[in-house]
Amino acid sequence: MQRRQATLKEKLSEHYRKRDFKAKKQTASTAGVVFFLSMLVTVVLEGLVVLLPRYYTTDDGSMASGYRFAQFLCIWLFIETSVNWYNTYYDVANRVTKEMKATHYPATSETPPGWKNCPTCLLDAPPRSHHCSLCNYCILKRDHHCFVTGSCVGYHNQRTFVVFCLYTLISTAWAAFLQFCYLNEELPISTYWASFYFPLAGLWQYLVGAVSFINFFILIHLCCTLVSLGLVVFFLFWQLVIIARGQTSFEAWKQISIYRRRAVLNNFRDVFGELQNFLLLLVVPLRLPMPADGIKWVIEPKEEKGH
Ligand SMILES: [Zn+2]
Ligand SMILES: [Zn+2]
Repeated sequence: MQRRQATLKEKLSEHYRKRDFKAKKQTASTAGVVFFLSMLVTVVLEGLVVLLPRYYTTDDGSMASGYRFAQFLCIWLFIETSVNWYNTYYDVANRVTKEMKATHYPATSETPPGWKNCPTCLLDAPPRSHHCSLCNYCILKRDHHCFVTGSCVGYHNQRTFVVFCLYTLISTAWAAFLQFCYLNEELPISTYWASFYFPLAGLWQYLVGAVSFINFFILIHLCCTLVSLGLVVFFLFWQLVIIARGQTSFEAWKQISIYRRRAVLNNFRDVFGELQNFLLLLVVPLRLPMPADGIKWVIEPKEEKGH
């Protein structure tokens, strides 16, 4: 007997029925958060206890000028990085709620023009918002899910994410410099110790007792710091590019431009607010209100690349 071919409608309803609306496990996100927090704490302790005292100790055993300032700078970078991390992590204001539609369109039960109904949250979500299957919320002006903060970067925390990237970049660059200076003094790279700087060779030299645990530990730290530095340079650069273009990462990926010929300064103002607020945010990690609500957007017609 010949089997009947399923119609397109049946295939679509089968596909829809089988869709998994459950939140995905946050394993990778949790691993990213644990990696970041453990690196943050250990690098700061290593800097204050081992690297800075070594770097600033002079030949006669006294501390060179600038040591106190370097200690202060280390603690300040730690505070800036960790508080901006927390401000990015705490993204509750980004979550789409049913009150958002009730406030802007109190009289309608339909999905408002430009909005879309999320099949997972079962809520009407404003333009530029997208559902995150890891956070299990629709996020206002969703940019991407950050595996280092374990949260989504969206309308209300994108600027703290950028400031967080900036401080992580400064911190990792300085940490990598101090780590390398320490190791180069202990095991000069210009001598036969050069092989130690390859992590597997370093592990072997540690296992056979040729180098100390602290030297091997700092080598592993240096590798992790350099990887973090490379990632943060990429993220900071990418964020500045898409902010200048007035896009989110999702929109850049889909080649959607909601604005045409808009001043770059206005695109930056959308994310960072007024200049004085941003300058204040750069030196003091505050939670300042955003210039708008991230719900209402003037969407211009789609502009495909090359059109
Ligand atoms: Zn949703
Ligand atoms: Zn997310």
